[in-house]
Parts: sequence; C-alpha cells; structure tokens
Amino acid sequence: MSLIQDGLASAVTVGEMMIPGEKVAHVQLNNPLEHALLVLVKSGYSAVPVLDASYKLSGMIGKTMILNHILGLERFEMEKLSDTTVQEIMVTEVPCLSQADLFMDGLKAVIDHPFVCVADDSGYFDGILTRRAILKRINKDFYESRLQNRKG
Ligand code: AMP
Repeated sequence: MSLIQDGLASAVTVGEMMIPGEKVAHVQLNNPLEHALLVLVKSGYSAVPVLDASYKLSGMIGKTMILNHILGLERFEMEKLSDTTVQEIMVTEVPCLSQADLFMDGLKAVIDHPFVCVADDSGYFDGILTRRAILKRINKDFYESRLQNRKG
C-alpha cells in the first residue's frame, strides 16, 4: 500500500489544506521593525508574510532577520527597531503556490520551508500552506485508507 494514495496526490488541492488569509498573522510593508517583532513574539511564529495595503503578497519577515539587522558590533542597536521599516529588510523571493495547485506541489514546496504563501494570479494573498497541514492530511488519509482496507 502506498502511503500517499492516488486520490490525495491528484485530487486534494492547496486551497483545501491552506490556512485562510484572515487567520494568518501578517505585517505590512511600512510597519516599523518593532511592530513586526511584537507580532512575531506574541504569535510565537518564526516568520510571517508581508502584505501591501491592498493585501498583495510582498515578502516575508522573520525574527532572525530582525535580530541580525539590529545586531551591532558590541550591542543590539535598539533604535533601529523604530528607524527601519519591514520593507527594508524583508525577503522578497518567497515560495508561492496557488489554491488550484495539487497536494504534491504543496508537499514538494514544504520540504525546504516551514510554510509557503498562497496567492492568486494577480498576487493577492489567499493564505499559507504549512508543513503541519500537509502532515495532518497525510495522517488523515493514512488512517482512513487503513480503515477501508479492514472493512473491505
Ligand atoms: P506550523 O507548521 O504550524 O508549525 O507552522 C510553521 C510556520 O508557519 C510558523 O512558524 C509560522 O512561521 C507560519 N505560520 C503558521 N500558522 C500561522 C498563522 N496562523 N499566521 C502566520 N504564520 C503562521
């Protein structure tokens, strides 16, 4: 028995597995780093998407990027937290999927990233697909097919 069943690989879409945009913590391009750090620390996430004012995906920012940016030679230069905006240090090359992409596209994408962003053709942010969501889906499929095999 294959661990990843045919139905899962070819019929389940990224849109069905993603965390929808309204439930995703994010920051905006012109937010100061101190706001981004607050969001990251409060939420407990290591990185979050960066959106523009029209909700288009612009990049990603994480705790390590912020800490590296404020790290001086001998001390953390805390003033940089209010002097620098998110867009100055965020990464813009972020892996991105669309809702119509299939399970296998999502699986491949999360091998190298804890989460990938989901956006439409115009770049509007739809949500994120996390490693956890992919693993949960594989787990569900595995137990469902085991149950079916027992019944059959
Ligand atoms: P997980 O697979 O649930 O551990 O999530 C992996 C990463 O995805 C987290 O460290 C965050 O960077 C990001 N993430 C997960 N859920 C959310 C959320 N609701 N809002 C923003 N980022 C999230």
